Amino acid sequence: DYTFEKWQDKAQQLDIEQRAFIAGEYTGAQSGQTFDCRSPIDGRLLARVSQCDADDVDRAVAAGRQSFESGVWSRQSPRQRKAVLLRWVALLSGHSEELALLETLDVGKPIAESQGVDVAGAIYCLEWFAEAIDKVAGEVIPGDGSFHSTVTREPVGVVGAIVPWNFPLMMAMWKLAPALAAGNSVLLKPSERSPLTALRIAGLARLAGLPDGVLSVLPGDGRVGELLSHHPDIDCIAFTGSGATGRRILRASADSNLKRVWNELGGKSANIILDDVEDLDAAAQAAAAAIFYNAGQVCSAGSRLLVQRSILQRFKVALLEAAREFVPGHPLDPATRLGPLVDQRHLDLVQQYVAHGEGEAQLVAGGRRAEPVAGGSYLAPTVFECKDGRERIAREEIFGPVLAIIPFDDVDEAVAIANASDYGLAAALWSGNLKRIHAIAPRLRAGTVWVNCYDALADMNFPFGGYKQSGNGRDNSLHALDKYQEIKSTIMQV
Ligand code: NAD
Repeated sequence: DYTFEKWQDKAQQLDIEQRAFIAGEYTGAQSGQTFDCRSPIDGRLLARVSQCDADDVDRAVAAGRQSFESGVWSRQSPRQRKAVLLRWVALLSGHSEELALLETLDVGKPIAESQGVDVAGAIYCLEWFAEAIDKVAGEVIPGDGSFHSTVTREPVGVVGAIVPWNFPLMMAMWKLAPALAAGNSVLLKPSERSPLTALRIAGLARLAGLPDGVLSVLPGDGRVGELLSHHPDIDCIAFTGSGATGRRILRASADSNLKRVWNELGGKSANIILDDVEDLDAAAQAAAAAIFYNAGQVCSAGSRLLVQRSILQRFKVALLEAAREFVPGHPLDPATRLGPLVDQRHLDLVQQYVAHGEGEAQLVAGGRRAEPVAGGSYLAPTVFECKDGRERIAREEIFGPVLAIIPFDDVDEAVAIANASDYGLAAALWSGNLKRIHAIAPRLRAGTVWVNCYDALADMNFPFGGYKQSGNGRDNSLHALDKYQEIKSTIMQV
């Protein structure tokens, strides 16, 4: 509950870890190479972070392999692993304020969200998998007494986790928690745009008692990800990021050792408002948050707003009213709900979409840069009204605070538009008619469907992932363990 000034004071005092963490130590990169890490708040240089290369990757893989084969983690009982991971939970909780500050400085998200969503969500995820892992048992297969046969689960081995910049700590933990709980050794490759929290938590893992080599953190650009995906001694890559990179990783796997590849990719999720929506203002507020939260840099953002034509005018008025809450501001000000985009390069890309949008749809709000802080990369919340959803801004993932409203006349048209996408990560549906809801929800080709809410109930029991080109496999829930465990049949004649 600090004031803006107090958060700024705290930010001045931060001691930022910038070295790669390999085989249980902050060693930096062997070459001494670094890259600049700047804050999108004002463009200020935050750190010069290790740029790892092939030698560093080899060292980390060797340490991961050695720790895996030694059994120091992989063959500990689940209960022992749980104890270490819960100590890590306690340490992360003790450092939650520092982690939230790092996240806000590094990616520009409002401080209240860094605390309440990113850091709290990462800790909750780790605690959930730590608590779950000693409750997952194998199977004994019934027979006629001449065989004793079991189905058991074992860790996959050495896992490379490659994560994006939009929720750096939470995306990292969505991989680390299930992978480590299951007994794997993990090499984490944070995004070059937001490496700071990943580096910080590695030291806390060591303090918690995670054996050396079980976790390495390898900062650097896409080349590090490429080295991991081609590496012959890595068993699995768990990736979250863009479709283009996901494809490269699949190719690298095919060209090397056919390592398992799990992809969590992009989205262009449809938020459908039917004419019998019960609380139109609440739906409009949720629709605004669905696209402007985290400045729209959310894989499951409600970037396509499908509104039934009979309520279009009323809904637009309510939406624009709700959008006014999202005034670009300094993310350390607790009142701010819309921070900068992750960097100038990304802002340029989003602005190119806006410029293109002006030629194919009607700009209803925003579209301009904002400058609440000099040197930052801010964009006003932007709304377009499209004709039919075939516009480029209505089809491609923009990953910014840019909403495409698409009118529709009837339910079949809404479902057709919603599903006419290469993506299938999430969808939402607003209606007061239960029969209608039950008829429509199963027709939506998406991994998550929210009804009369958006982005609600961040509960680890729900698997998260996509249909179609939004990826394969699921993060969160016990289903996530399938990514990080081999399933073994042991058939013994007695
Ligand atoms: P990106 O694909 O550019 O980068 C992701 C990571 O891959 C980074 O760490 C990057 O350094 C690394 N990388 C780059 N080139 C690589 C290569 N050739 N081989 C291996 N790794 C490489 O994505 P981004 O811009 O960081 O993130 C935005 C994307 O992530 C969006 O498409 C978004 O929808 C998606 N995303 C998906 C989910 C989900 O759960 N489905 C969650 C968050 C973000």
